[in-house]
Parts: sequence; C-alpha cells; structure tokens
Amino acid sequence: MKTYFKPVTRRKFLKTGAAGGVIIATLPIWKLCSCSAPPSDFYVNPASDLSKETLEKLIEIALQKGGEFAEVYVEYKVDNRVSLEENKIYGAGRGVEMGVGIRVLHGEKTGYAYCDDLSFDKLKQTAEVASFIAAEKEVRQPVGLKSSKIPSYYLVKVAPDSIVPKKKAKLLWKANSVGRAYDKKINQVNVGFSDVNKKIIIANSEGTWVEDVQTISRLFVSISAIEGDKRSRGYAYKGGTLGYEHYDLKLAEELAKDACRMAMAMLPAEDAPAGEYPIVMAKGRCGTFFHEAIGHSLESDGIRKKTSCFWDKKGKMIASKITSLADDGTIPGARGAINVDDEGTPAQKNILIDKGICSNFLYDRLNAGLMKAKLTGNGRRESYQHYPIPRMTNTYLMAGEDDPESIVKSVKKGIYVARIGGGNVTWVTGRFVFSVPEGYLIEDGKITKPLKGIQLMGKGPEALKNIVMVGPDLEIWGGGTCGKDGQAKPVSDGNPTLKVSKITIGGAKV
Ligand SMILES: [Zn+2]
Repeated sequence: MKTYFKPVTRRKFLKTGAAGGVIIATLPIWKLCSCSAPPSDFYVNPASDLSKETLEKLIEIALQKGGEFAEVYVEYKVDNRVSLEENKIYGAGRGVEMGVGIRVLHGEKTGYAYCDDLSFDKLKQTAEVASFIAAEKEVRQPVGLKSSKIPSYYLVKVAPDSIVPKKKAKLLWKANSVGRAYDKKINQVNVGFSDVNKKIIIANSEGTWVEDVQTISRLFVSISAIEGDKRSRGYAYKGGTLGYEHYDLKLAEELAKDACRMAMAMLPAEDAPAGEYPIVMAKGRCGTFFHEAIGHSLESDGIRKKTSCFWDKKGKMIASKITSLADDGTIPGARGAINVDDEGTPAQKNILIDKGICSNFLYDRLNAGLMKAKLTGNGRRESYQHYPIPRMTNTYLMAGEDDPESIVKSVKKGIYVARIGGGNVTWVTGRFVFSVPEGYLIEDGKITKPLKGIQLMGKGPEALKNIVMVGPDLEIWGGGTCGKDGQAKPVSDGNPTLKVSKITIGGAKV
C-alpha cells in the first residue's frame, strides 16, 4: 500500500492555546478550508511528534493512581466533502482534526480525558486527569510497547484525500446531467462525494502498539420526481473503505440512473394497506433491519446492564432454525471494515445467532473484562474525544438455501420490501418501526403495484422467530452511519432475499 503520510509539524494544523480536560470539556478542532486544491502537505503523520517512549511515559503516568489498564489513542483525521444541488456546486469543505484520548480502567470505572495540544506538559496533565478514577496503593507497571502487524481489509490504492475537489466535482456534474435528462418529471438532483481519512495509533499498558490508516469514501445521488400532486424520491450510492480508483464517470451515471429508476417507480405509488402481512425483503437492501432491530440488542453493554431484550438468552433459541446472524469487520472494502477496532483488537467475524441460537455478543474491552468474555474486535469510538463502546461493523443475516424466486412465489398477498429506510428501535423491548422508501404489493406470488407510506412495526425477537425462508443470495451493500450514545460510526449491513411470515404493516389504507 502507498504511504500517504509525510512528517509535518503539528503546529501547521492546530490552533494555539488548545485545551486539555476530561471528556466533554473541550470542543473539536475544525478547520474548514475553501474548495481550492488541498494543501500539498495534506495528511501528516502524528507519530512524527509522538514517539513510543512518549506514549510509554503517558501510560505510566495514567497508571500512577493504581488503575488496572491504561491506553493512549492518537488520532489525525482529514475529511473532505463536495456537494451539488440545484445545478450548482453547493458546498465544499475540508476538516482537520487531531488529538489524543487517554483512558484508564479500574473495575467498572472508566477515567477518560482528551487533549488537542500535543505538547508533553498538556498530555501529562491529560494522563493525570484520566488516572484519578483509581485510588490504590499498589501501582501496576505497564508492559513495554511492541508493534503488531495487522492485515488490511481496505481497498485503497489512491487516497481520496489526494484528489482535488474540482476532479471530484466532475462525478457530481455527470450524475446531475444524467439525472436531469432521465425524465421530465425529475425536478431535483442532489449529489455528494465525501471521504474521511484517518490515522490512528493505539498503545496500552499490556504492550499493544498498533497503527492504522483508515479511509472511507462515498458517492451519493438523490433524486426527486413530481407529477401533479404526486411526489417521490429515489437514491443510490456507492461507498466503503474504498480508494478513489473505485469512482469514475460511468459509476456516477449508473448511480444517477438507479436513483431515477427508483423515483420514477415510486411516483405512481398508492397508499399501503394496514394490517398483518407476510413480507419479502430484497437481497442487500434490508440489512439495516438486522442492524437496528437485532444487532444493537446483541451489544455487550446492554447485555451486561440487562437493558437488552437478549441479556439472558445466551445459548437459547431466539430465532427460527434457518436464521444466522453475523458481524464481520473483515469484509474487504465494506464501509464497516476495520483492520483493528479503536482499542487495537484485530477485526474478526463473529457469529451472533447460529441457526437460531444466541451464540455470542459484541464486546469492547471494558465489558469483555467485566463479563469474562473474549474480545471480539468491536470496541469502537467516534474520535479521540470519546471512549470506546461496543459497536457493530458489518452486520448481516447469513445465507440460506431457499430459491429467491420461490420465496416471492410463496406469498399470496404481502409486501415486497425493495429497500428499507430509517428505523426507530427500543433496545430494551426490541420494539421497532421502519419506513420503506421502496416497496411493492405482492399478489398471487407476483410483485405488482408500488406502495407508499409502508411502515414495518413489531418486535425484533418476534420477527426473528417468523423468518421462514432465506435465500443463498447474500449481499452486503452500502451502509451508513450508526449513532449510539452520541457517537457516530460508519457501518454496513446486508441480507439475502428472505421471508418473514407475518409483520404488522402500518399503512394509510384500511
Ligand atoms: Zn445503529
């Protein structure tokens, strides 16, 4: 892989007089530049300022009050975005953020402090603040730091950060012209390209020293159509841990056409019926359902605190026999792919539901330690200002054996969910409501009329038991940004074609 870093003094990027302090004590450093070419010294290496010896010293200071575990997290992040709306480049921005988070664990307690000034004095103060949660006479000696080699699951040859906004804007103009030419009923085209480029270093008192360079990019097209008093929306995107070599004009054209197809297909949509119906979920486009309605309830913090509906279900049947669910941070190029989590644990594939049985949960270090479980590579944080919590990566329903065509044919009257939208889930009960931006009626085994206003309602644990057919055509697709405890994190999800025997549909037509 290409090296994108070159040493530059941190002062070029940091405001002076930056503050250190405990969590929520400081504001992020954002430096938005104009949309001209990025500075030639983009992407610095924060390690050029922070040696292993410095981090070892900080870990030692963090443990001085008797904490059990100490960790230093160094982050340097550059993000870029360009957007097009109403036939013009609407915005372009560049943000640079850098800082260090220091964490101390002691039993159930977490001490966390962060700082965006990398002078040793400030970092020392930060480590001291984090250390205060412990008050033991005996002080643990940290293990000397040793670099560990990690595999790469990112498909990045050309860093998107190295591409000038003008070149990215060509993709946007292409999608805009294709979208506007598609049909007279298309009245709005919005397109955006964004990339986040991060370098992180994680060092801890057990001797772990890991560096990782993470890139996430996305091209997004959103279309609106109008005819009389009918309105509809379509969207399409490609994104992931992908380099700029994955984007070209042909892709921009394909995405624009796909978004237009959806908007035009949904324009004549009728009100959805209300009531209980079987549903068929289209491959790849409904993974959010499993992420939101099931995945969050399998995160170990909720399990340990007994706030999840699955807290006492390990080893028990919680789904139909044909249902298996996995979370896998090692899927190359996927938006939730990570070489290591934000605690330095290598990513791995974790089977959470194995043929209906609740087989594992998603762990970060704190919860794994308290629950005496193995780390799963799911300790993730939004930035140096946040401490890690258990989070998903790429979550998906695993493939089954039912023929996708037969799955649709098996439904006399039901709903075909071509694409699932946003959801609202209560993790304690598993109760959910999801919107369906693209859905159709199924009549006598055939997909027929488009429907609007479909809402899927129910409880995750019940829906799991009602999965009666699963196809072999698993697809991991796109993904988005998951929010939890005020922290945003990129994830992706997926599913094969599947049938849920009954689910409550909230629709306008009775
Ligand atoms: Zn989520």
